[in-house]
Amino acid sequence: MIPAAFSYSRPRSLDEAFALLAEHGSEAKLVAGGHSLLPMMKLRLATPSMLIDISRISGLDAIEASGDTIKIGALTTHAAIASDVNVRKLVPALAEAASQIGDTQVRNRGTIGGACAHGDPASDYPAIALALEATLTTQSRGGTKTIAASNFFQGLFETALTADAVLTEIAFRAAPHSAYAKFPHPASHFAVVGACANLSLQGGKISQARIAITGVGDHAYRAGTVEKALVGVDPKDATAVKAACVDAGAEIEPRSDVFASGHYRAAMAEVYAARAVEAAAKR
Ligand SMILES: Cc1cc2nc3c(=O)[nH]c(=O)nc-3n(C[C@H](O)[C@H](O)[C@H](O)COP(=O)(O)OP(=O)(O)OC[C@H]3O[C@@H](n4cnc5c(N)ncnc54)[C@H](O)[C@@H]3O)c2cc1C
Repeated sequence: MIPAAFSYSRPRSLDEAFALLAEHGSEAKLVAGGHSLLPMMKLRLATPSMLIDISRISGLDAIEASGDTIKIGALTTHAAIASDVNVRKLVPALAEAASQIGDTQVRNRGTIGGACAHGDPASDYPAIALALEATLTTQSRGGTKTIAASNFFQGLFETALTADAVLTEIAFRAAPHSAYAKFPHPASHFAVVGACANLSLQGGKISQARIAITGVGDHAYRAGTVEKALVGVDPKDATAVKAACVDAGAEIEPRSDVFASGHYRAAMAEVYAARAVEAAAKR
């Protein structure tokens, strides 16, 4: 549980961070909250020879609400997101997910940028980002890129981030009828299964549904079949909601581990998708 030797640098600006990334190349790793990277280093699953600590770069931890958009700096902690009045009002599913991450220590140190950049298959935010059609902004010496969440989360610990770039901001559009339902791992609280529902309602029926699932496969995904099946459903009709959610776990190869089989994860995806839909409709 002792990491390999490494050097450490704490840039004060993005430009300094870009310079360090250019100098150290693939030997370098950015560190923000350290709550995913340091455990991996202790297990020697990651052995960077240079840690670039971006946590003191100013201007990357703001939450800015303007009109129906809310922009969250990459260094914003899970605790700050969970308690922000605008996040709770405009994107309740995001506040809900943030408040259920790990424990108090993890929520006070871990950042939304680190969680998205890490690409952990059991991470909560990717489901929210997909269902709320968030965009992720990265910056590098080459310029600024805005990437749709649907293109960002690509595989097991794999994202669209390039090695020379820093994730700087995640932007969400208001989603008042959104909710997140999670089956947490009893020890870590990572999502065994997490489902985010983002609904549009008309005349008491669902007119559009965006449903995303995390924890089940190698990366979070949109449950397209479920989204189609939910259109026209009365969300108060629990039987109809359950029937529409039946394929929630069928759209990806489910992962098995010592805690839960793939079959069980897929079955729980149906259950938690229905719970998220019911909760979102009540908002
Ligand atoms: C006990 C425990 C329980 C946890 N439970 C949960 C849970 O329930 N749900 C959940 O979703 N997560 C959980 N986590 C993970 C936690 O949310 C981490 O905080 C998060 O995944 C990583 O954020 P970080 O800021 O700590 O990133 P770090 O550990 O600092 O970095 C993680 C990775 O992202 C890269 N990175 C960091 N910031 C940036 C950036 N701005 N731009 C580009 N690359 C960057 C780093 O190079 C590294 O590869 C848990 C962690 C622990 C230790």
